[in-house]
Amino acid sequence: MTMTSRVPGMARSGILAPTGLTSVALAAGGLAAGIAVAQAGPGITGLGPVRRAFFPRLAGQGDPGHVALTFDDGPDPVATPKFLELLADRQVTATFFLLGQMVARAPGLAAELTAAGHEVGVHGWEHRYLPPRGPRATFEDIRRATESIARATGTRPRLFRPPYGVLSGSSLAAVRRLGLVPVLWGAWGKEWTPGSTPDSVYASLSGRLRGGVTVLLHDSDCTSPPGSWRAALGALPRLLDECSRRGLAVGPLGQHGCAGTDGDDGQSPDCERDAGSGQHDRN
Ligand SMILES: [Zn+2]
Repeated sequence: MTMTSRVPGMARSGILAPTGLTSVALAAGGLAAGIAVAQAGPGITGLGPVRRAFFPRLAGQGDPGHVALTFDDGPDPVATPKFLELLADRQVTATFFLLGQMVARAPGLAAELTAAGHEVGVHGWEHRYLPPRGPRATFEDIRRATESIARATGTRPRLFRPPYGVLSGSSLAAVRRLGLVPVLWGAWGKEWTPGSTPDSVYASLSGRLRGGVTVLLHDSDCTSPPGSWRAALGALPRLLDECSRRGLAVGPLGQHGCAGTDGDDGQSPDCERDAGSGQHDRN
């Protein structure tokens, strides 16, 4: 299944872009490269170290004793139940950033997520790159997804992750209006890379695995090569084992301290200390 409006050749980057696209150029070697370059105009922040240093909450920096586990692009009728089974076996809960279009196709599965104790967030209605979209279209997309998720799960989501990790001024205004908090990530499995395996996913994650990080995996291949979620699923037990070995708790963003916690301004000393730890981003 392919969702609409994929951006050809665009890396999944984690860029905060201004509303106007004219000052933004993405030069990427495609999804396989996993590298994006923003020619920065005023107002652009982005790419790892800058993002983490100045926006720890946006980067998902949390409690140094905790790792936030997040999944994007579901709920997927084939893949998501397999993740639910594994997480139940391991007694771990996570945050699932849902696509409204996917929820519309499988509302019962969305309800299963919250029934199992998982947190749900908003990933948009369509999986579309946000900066070219106008304020009205952006707001409607996010609002429609938020309401669809709330209806299906009985839970009002309060977190937002933009498709491709790229925010625009319009999307920031929309999420504020909707009472959502944007959260990106600090480590990812890149299971959407063609030819990815559990080993490649774990290798990508483990390079950035540390206390306080937010991990991104996908429980769906609706925007990725078919079956790519299997590499994420295969890497997950190893990730959980390694966190356990290091004494790190694993859970949803709602239990992650400064990132995603109600009423927290993201500026706690732990966040700041972690943000300045000098890690290098490879997103
Ligand atoms: Zn996505």
